Amino acid sequence: MNIVLDFDSTLIQAESLDILAAICNRSKTIQEEIKHITNLGMIGEISIQESLSQRIKLINATPADLSELIVKLFSFISPSIVALTKMKSIFPKNCYIVSGGFLEYIMPVCKRIGFLESNIIANQFVLKDNTIIDFNRSLPIAHNMGKVKVINEFQLARPICMIGDGYTDLEAKLEGAVDYFIGYTETVYRDYIVERADAVCSDFYEVVKFIKENG
Ligand SMILES: [Mg+2]
Repeated sequence: MNIVLDFDSTLIQAESLDILAAICNRSKTIQEEIKHITNLGMIGEISIQESLSQRIKLINATPADLSELIVKLFSFISPSIVALTKMKSIFPKNCYIVSGGFLEYIMPVCKRIGFLESNIIANQFVLKDNTIIDFNRSLPIAHNMGKVKVINEFQLARPICMIGDGYTDLEAKLEGAVDYFIGYTETVYRDYIVERADAVCSDFYEVVKFIKENG
């Protein structure tokens, strides 16, 4: 079986952009606004482009802030990921990360866990005058149905199992890009997602059990 994982609130127990906003010392009001935008995107209320663009502008981060974020994210890696990394029949070769987050912090975190660089797809920041001002809008992942497009482009052998907490993860199943969708609830439990999932897991031990039973 091929496994596709989401990053934020799945592989790590947090939303990276929320942490980045805290690092940048944005006011509580702005931090709440960012969380609100994250959630609107997560339930499919606003487009991915809108969600990213609004949050990037509010955060107004520098590359130095990103370095601080990466160090912080190491401590947010789900401890149970070890269950998956020990599964040598699929890890790392058959495990992919497809995230609407950003490669600049996702790559170092995922490489530390042991994921292959070539199996990681995410958005990319655009910098100007030492500030993150936008994201690369030419990447397939930066668009609506981005995860669906990216997974289809990988042309992976079936069955494929998607694991995530948000709407874009569920969408991969709804659009037929994957065969199974596991609603991942360790960090956040969303009724809308859970109700539509093939299975619900609250840690990676449960995920491994599902893979063994269905692989
Ligand atoms: Mg997520």
